Amino acid sequence: MLATDKILYKNVLCVYLHQKGAPEKKYCPPIGLEYIAAALKGLVEKVTLIDMRFEPDLDIFIKNNPVDLVCLSVCWDYQREAAINIIARIPSNIKVIVGGRYATTYVEELFAAAPNIDIIVRGDGEETIRDIALDLPLIDILGISYRKDSGIIHNKSRGLILLDDKIYPDRKLRRVNYRLLYKNIDLGLGIDFISTSRGCPYNCRFCSFTNNPLGQKRVWSARSARSIVEELKTIDAEFIFVVDDNFAVDMNRVEEICDLIIAEGIKKTFAVALRLDIYKYPQILRKMFAAGFKILSIGIESAQDKTLKVIEKGFDISLAIKAFTEIHKVNFYIHGYFIVGCIGESELEMLAIAPFAKKLRLDTISLSLLRTEKYSPLNEIIAKSKGYHVSDNDIVYSEDCSLERLKSIRHRISKSYYDFSTMLRIGKKIFSAHLITPQHLARLISILLFRGVISRHFSSCNRK
Ligand code: SF4
Repeated sequence: MLATDKILYKNVLCVYLHQKGAPEKKYCPPIGLEYIAAALKGLVEKVTLIDMRFEPDLDIFIKNNPVDLVCLSVCWDYQREAAINIIARIPSNIKVIVGGRYATTYVEELFAAAPNIDIIVRGDGEETIRDIALDLPLIDILGISYRKDSGIIHNKSRGLILLDDKIYPDRKLRRVNYRLLYKNIDLGLGIDFISTSRGCPYNCRFCSFTNNPLGQKRVWSARSARSIVEELKTIDAEFIFVVDDNFAVDMNRVEEICDLIIAEGIKKTFAVALRLDIYKYPQILRKMFAAGFKILSIGIESAQDKTLKVIEKGFDISLAIKAFTEIHKVNFYIHGYFIVGCIGESELEMLAIAPFAKKLRLDTISLSLLRTEKYSPLNEIIAKSKGYHVSDNDIVYSEDCSLERLKSIRHRISKSYYDFSTMLRIGKKIFSAHLITPQHLARLISILLFRGVISRHFSSCNRK
């Protein structure tokens, strides 16, 4: 049923941008656009969600449908070229609205590069898109930039929204199933994302996740346990990434979510990001594991106390060791995040990441180069640090440690960490934590055999 008498847009396309050559990440559902589609419910006649990773020909789609509004999100720098090329082909009688993290940061640049863009939504889009669909005067809509005459008008920013218990991503619009893939081979595991909270109350100095790209600090806000569990009941996938910046801020809420999942008999495997402070709650850790929260992603960032202090991470090396000793009492699969190239660290200090991660008995680790953004508070520290610079793609490097050298250090850390014993431990953990069942394993082997991957691999090995 339509929630308004005055329907301005009859046929809306929400488009996940992609063009050949850009990273595909085909296992990631376009949850942000699904939130936008859900917000439009009742205000427009029809919404169609196109994921160009699977349906690359948007032109045909527009030609065969009387589309009057296209919403696109540009979240990452690698989507910029696709945005410019694809938007250029959208007929000028169709309104084009762009949102997303990258678009919010580079408003002027995108308007200049893509003349067909009518409006850029800065920051959270759910309320803004509703205002646009309701045809409020553009001058009154917070958080947008739009063309007027030959210039660009930037309205005031909108406050960051609190998560709404009632709006779920509209998964019914999906035209593809999102599955775990290896080189485009379906490994037999359905994947989905869920957002249970936004923001984080901490203030690690390098972190821009908890700010919007305009530097507005996001107040932590969370959905109720009941609403999360109701949404989970609608999800088919077995494997769920909780996309929160920090899932475990309110321990009562965490416990309630676990209790409800167990009571409702929901059987899924969840991956969540949280802080190592969770070690203080052994009972909740056990309950999390029982409810299916088996993969914990934890930011450690550095193997140096001096760095942890500067970035205000809130713990030091000895506390990290203590925390992981406690967390390991439950058989979680643990993924650790580290930053290569923290300001003031020497090559030797960076290389200390591998032995430190082993000491913490992490399973897998991510090694990111230090990155900043146009409005990040980190820029202030960089400006004060002699000899440090920022590359075109926002990576921080120094006169002592060039980008190439940082990448080589990252490679050496990775090589040293992922040795035979670590790989063996990862393999064992996947089974002991029941991340995949024997049935999944059997299915996986049969899929690989069926597709000839194993046989091809063996034949090429035999040729060597
Ligand atoms: S705890 Fe994590 S999400 Fe929160 S500010 Fe620190 S790095 Fe960012």
